[in-house]
Amino acid sequence: MTIAPQRLARPASITDRFLQGLVSRVQGSAAPPWPLTEVYTGEVLVDLPQSTPTDIERAFAAARAAQVEWAARPLRARLEVFKRAHTIFLDNAHLTTDLIQVESGKNRRMAIEETCDPVMVMSHYLKRAPKLLAPVKRGGPVPFLTTSTEIRQPKGVVAIIAPWNFPFATGISDAISALMAGNAIVLKPDNKTALSPLHGIAMLEEAGLPKGLFQVVCGEGPDVGPTLIDNANYVMFTGSTATGRVIGERAGRNLIGCCLELGGKNPMLVLEDADLDDVVQGAIFGAFGNTGQICMHIERMYLPESRYEEFKAKFVAATEALDVRAAYDFGPDLGSLVSPDHVERVKAHVDDAVAKGATVLTGGRPRPDLGPAFFEPTILEGVTTEMLCGVTETFGPVVALHPYRTVDEAVALANDTDYGLNASVWGGDVEAAAAVGRRIESGNVNINDILATAFASKGTPSGGVKQSGVGARHGDQGLLKYTDVQNLAVLKKQVMGARPGQDYDAYVKGMLGGLRMMRRTRIR
Ligand code: NAD
Repeated sequence: MTIAPQRLARPASITDRFLQGLVSRVQGSAAPPWPLTEVYTGEVLVDLPQSTPTDIERAFAAARAAQVEWAARPLRARLEVFKRAHTIFLDNAHLTTDLIQVESGKNRRMAIEETCDPVMVMSHYLKRAPKLLAPVKRGGPVPFLTTSTEIRQPKGVVAIIAPWNFPFATGISDAISALMAGNAIVLKPDNKTALSPLHGIAMLEEAGLPKGLFQVVCGEGPDVGPTLIDNANYVMFTGSTATGRVIGERAGRNLIGCCLELGGKNPMLVLEDADLDDVVQGAIFGAFGNTGQICMHIERMYLPESRYEEFKAKFVAATEALDVRAAYDFGPDLGSLVSPDHVERVKAHVDDAVAKGATVLTGGRPRPDLGPAFFEPTILEGVTTEMLCGVTETFGPVVALHPYRTVDEAVALANDTDYGLNASVWGGDVEAAAAVGRRIESGNVNINDILATAFASKGTPSGGVKQSGVGARHGDQGLLKYTDVQNLAVLKKQVMGARPGQDYDAYVKGMLGGLRMMRRTRIR
């Protein structure tokens, strides 16, 4: 059954007063404001303030002032905020889900899963931060007389630039470890999806985060990006490879660090002994989860020739059974794309493939009858590297099927890309599948899963290789990247270096002999 979008009732929580309260947190005075719309209907929800360079500088000044007091608090006191926030975030999960849905158009199952990400990140770093941020005593060059201590100092103010596909997760989760480490944040969300991160900040403040420490500026990327990067001590960026290059160049010129989490063209390899029913279920999520707008989702599938036709029939049937529509309940399997502009991009990729000889096995069309930004889940066959969707990220519910003859050929095809974000390998023999996984040039590889196992393993760094990124989130480096190392060295008594008038031969002999002795005794 299809529900006409104009008859869709907005969630009761999404009141004008609530939305006005959220957007009042943005440092913004530029005219005109951005009309932030409800994706399912295209109706304006609220006018989002836009930030001028002066607004951005004001946001940094306020963040910098708040950061000094925050960093001076003992780590234990900082972590208390996140213990309380963990509960508040879970208590508010349905309200956050409402916001994510109205601004992104994704289905409710995906939206509520997104609300779990910051909670998992908080939980991991609440356990791990005390160890990572504790001073580490190392030996100095002269035993007993010297020490060197590794001290983790916060960078200062971290700029976070977030995309629209997981606005709450990318806007809030990446801030958590930075805040725990003693930094302040200036976040630039995508204009389309600023509401859920603003709500996340309100919840953090309810948990006790000092006001002013977590600032938000809004605007089109090229307008606000330069001032943002020029004022930051570190940049955490999630978005496309093209924009990542611009951000990385500017950060490099300013000699500040940056972490770039970029796009993918992720392959799924199915081995001969895989359970095809599991593979079909996995492929449905891999290709169409979040309406194909997950950076780690699957756009290329490689199947053994012997099982290609069987898989194709099952996958097409399962795709055609999907419930695609606008709803604020848990019913639909798929929601909308994020915007009518994005429909045009996805359609252009499909049209280009068809014009160059690809076959549409199912789907392939926009669905304006369901809402302004709906697109059918689409399976293509015969895609080549001459086609847009054969080489660049489509970022929509479009997947291409390819048969292969040998595993070596499948691995070579999987690696024949500039990207390296995620890969998925399916097989009955898990060890054999893992051995194939190790041969894939990808920052994340999931065996018998699409992406969740890797992404939810918060103790392991997750990032892209090749053109899919620089650095990683999660794991120890997901927190340590937001710190500078200070080497605090102590010499208890001045014994190093030759004294004026000292016999230089004796000094050199003593020094070299000392090094020999330390090596022999393994002291240094
Ligand atoms: P995008 O690069 O167009 O925009 C991302 C963010 O950067 C937005 O907030 C945008 O306003 C801002 N921006 C754009 N130009 C800028 C500039 N010159 N200076 C500063 N900021 C600028 O990407 P998108 O289309 O919004 O997001 C989708 C992309 O993000 C896809 O490629 C997807 O794969 C990628 N992504 C990657 C990950 C990951 O973890 N690797 C996660 C989510 C999304």
